[in-house]
Amino acid sequence: MERVQNPQYRLFILSKTRDYPSQALDLFPGVALKIARCLTTGEAKSVKIQIEVTNRCNFRCKYCIRNYWKADLLDMDLTMFRKILDSFDEVERLILYGFGEPLIHKNIVEMLDLAKSKSEVLLTTNGSIKLDKVVDKVDHLGISIDTLIPGVLESIRKGSSWKIIRDNIEYAIKRTEVELEVVLTKDNIGEFVEFVKWAGEISADVAATNLVPYCKEMYDKVLFVELSKTPVEICEKVLGTDYNRMNELLKSVTSYSHDGINAYNELWQKVRSENYHLNLPAIIENQHRIKLAREVEKIFEEARKIAKSYQIKLDLPNVFADESKRACPYEDTIFIRSDGKITPCMEFAYTHPLYINGHKKIVNEYIIGNISSFDMEFMEMKKRLVEEFPWCGDCQFAVGCWFVEEALDCYGNSPSCSECLYSAGIARCLI
Ligand code: SF4
Ligand code: SF4
Ligand code: SF4
Repeated sequence: MERVQNPQYRLFILSKTRDYPSQALDLFPGVALKIARCLTTGEAKSVKIQIEVTNRCNFRCKYCIRNYWKADLLDMDLTMFRKILDSFDEVERLILYGFGEPLIHKNIVEMLDLAKSKSEVLLTTNGSIKLDKVVDKVDHLGISIDTLIPGVLESIRKGSSWKIIRDNIEYAIKRTEVELEVVLTKDNIGEFVEFVKWAGEISADVAATNLVPYCKEMYDKVLFVELSKTPVEICEKVLGTDYNRMNELLKSVTSYSHDGINAYNELWQKVRSENYHLNLPAIIENQHRIKLAREVEKIFEEARKIAKSYQIKLDLPNVFADESKRACPYEDTIFIRSDGKITPCMEFAYTHPLYINGHKKIVNEYIIGNISSFDMEFMEMKKRLVEEFPWCGDCQFAVGCWFVEEALDCYGNSPSCSECLYSAGIARCLI
């Protein structure tokens, strides 16, 4: 890509990489004020805080990050929870979930009481636990359910019972705002329209996300492509939609044909004039995934019509990236892990593998502090995502890129958001 390559990027990276040792949370209002200022426009206004009250869970879902991490499992101490809340003057929203089931925390009712007295409260649950003690303390309740077919649900969400989840949904729907959370894959996209219809009949909103693949087997199940749609459309407009001419062009470039190189340069300029990058080999290689993504867009259109007819909200993920329209969903939010450490988002909360752009990588946890010691630099950077981080999905070097293999990017960042599916709206989380 073009903006590479400060020769001294190693020093630059070293200056940015900081390690915060594990410390008991020691709160100072001044640091909370700093966080509030950093997350807003400089004024100490209200902020969104996501608190992982526990990272333990009573399910073993097939696609969960928990199968791929090495984390110490623990519940957040009630004293720590209280201190976090006390240290912020104004909180816009408290989001009480992380990589675990919040309702298995023994103090969850007290936590919800404290949270409710402070701000609006959002909680998501796997739907396995009775909601009678908590439902009136939650303003927005997310319940995960991927399919209407009991056998399929129980095989994906190991430990679940379709009947219990459905009963809990029906109980909650009469008492608070409920959003059904669906992880879309090749396995359940075929019944998604039916699913939205069912949600409409029970008046539940639906929020869907794509699967975040942690391994090649999961990658084979996804419905999205990492490519931006605009370069794909430009290539199709210039070279046709059967991809043969794209292949011929690529061959002529790799055999150093003068005409081929000129034609490629013309195509490159067209794509650049729209502010995108061209990854022609990936477009050709992913033609079947592009086709699938377009079929999924049609399914989404149908689902939108049904949601509209039932007047329910339907939140859908992108199935193409858009290099120039990326944004960090955690722009105004911090994530506090169950051990009290603060990370910029859920993606950087725990070290885990990710399979993306046709390669496997490791996303390392990135701790930006605790409430007594907080580094604001990365928080500022994620507000300027498009300027600060490249997007690897449209880059020809994505497979085998040295920067990515070294947990860097070519703008000199470490860690980097250059392959974050959340930033492309492909993966979504309820915050
Ligand atoms: S319920 Fe959520 S946290 Fe628990 S195993 Fe399933 S996906 Fe993971
Ligand atoms: S862009 Fe993605 S990885 Fe980067 S801070 Fe935001 S959510 Fe986290
Ligand atoms: S793959 Fe990503 S990090 Fe590597 S050169 Fe391309 S945009 Fe930069």
